[in-house]
Amino acid sequence: MELKANQTHGLVCAHHHLYSSLARGMPSPAQAPTSFHEILESVWWKLDRSLDLDIIEWSAKLGALEALRSGTTCIIDHHESPNAIEGSLTTISEACASLGVRVNTCYGVTDRNHEGSEKAMAMTEDAKRGLEENHRFISEGGRGMIGIHAAFTCSDETLEAAAGLASDLDVGVHVHVAEGEIDASATSRLKPLSKDNWLLIHGVKLEDDHGLKGTIIHNPRSNMNNSVGYAEPLRFSNPVGLGTDGIGADMIDEFRVAYVRLRENHIIESPEKVWEMLEVNNSLFPECINDVVTWTYHKMEPWHLAFTTGVRPVNIQINGEHVMENGEFTKIDAAEIEAKAAEASIRLFKKIAEIT
Ligand SMILES: [Zn+2]
Repeated sequence: MELKANQTHGLVCAHHHLYSSLARGMPSPAQAPTSFHEILESVWWKLDRSLDLDIIEWSAKLGALEALRSGTTCIIDHHESPNAIEGSLTTISEACASLGVRVNTCYGVTDRNHEGSEKAMAMTEDAKRGLEENHRFISEGGRGMIGIHAAFTCSDETLEAAAGLASDLDVGVHVHVAEGEIDASATSRLKPLSKDNWLLIHGVKLEDDHGLKGTIIHNPRSNMNNSVGYAEPLRFSNPVGLGTDGIGADMIDEFRVAYVRLRENHIIESPEKVWEMLEVNNSLFPECINDVVTWTYHKMEPWHLAFTTGVRPVNIQINGEHVMENGEFTKIDAAEIEAKAAEASIRLFKKIAEIT
């Protein structure tokens, strides 16, 4: 399909957490977290324990709506909801499909929710249920991968089982890797298991010659927000894509952040290097070439977009179907999604507040 200068294919977000769409405005922790691990414990791991299927549905619909408003038609999602595991991936998939958004989702298995003070040495019941949800969803024809939260919250048995299931189902593994110091041992534990079709999220603390196979997904805004450091993504020999880690799905915006973060340290680098990451994203979701986005800006090229803010979609076609025309959704009732999502967020915040 021939594109005009003011058009792109549908953009791809290579790492998202659709369950976090309702998190904005959630009750803040009693004490401000002072480390990445404390952020996980006092914010995200409270949020995920509070999710039910209804909240997951409206969170995914709001996330998909915001993705479309940014010209993103394809989302690679990583999900966790320990108190609503069964059916969660179908809920997300159907929620996105109802807006016409393409999604590849997975359930991030973990052993961190087990009782007791010792780290789990073997696969916990939660991890088994998470693996089964991945298995069920993919076997029933769902578009997905096998999710792992991160090596540091999993036993070796769980990591091996997840990798084995991915091989059996001929899909990749989608896993956070070395996001912070706490997960620095991920390399040695994942090296014997990783394959080219894996998605390795973050890689901030990876050695240059880490030896893991797969595509690294760089999430610069999230890394800055969590104070984990800079991934220096150009040092890797792996392909590198770009994600948002749940902070929306505006890939042109994330491209701009990734570019200035790169340029801050390397004055000779160009926006084209970061644009290549968006091209890697396209290879991870090849159907994006069937989608066409027409933009408010006349030249959708890296040297222009690095310095042009506020570029928005005007028209969006997904598989030939007009989803947006003249900046307005044609069939999607955005106001209804926003209202239902707001109701769900009130319920969610109550549940979070009840978790001590
Ligand atoms: Zn993430």
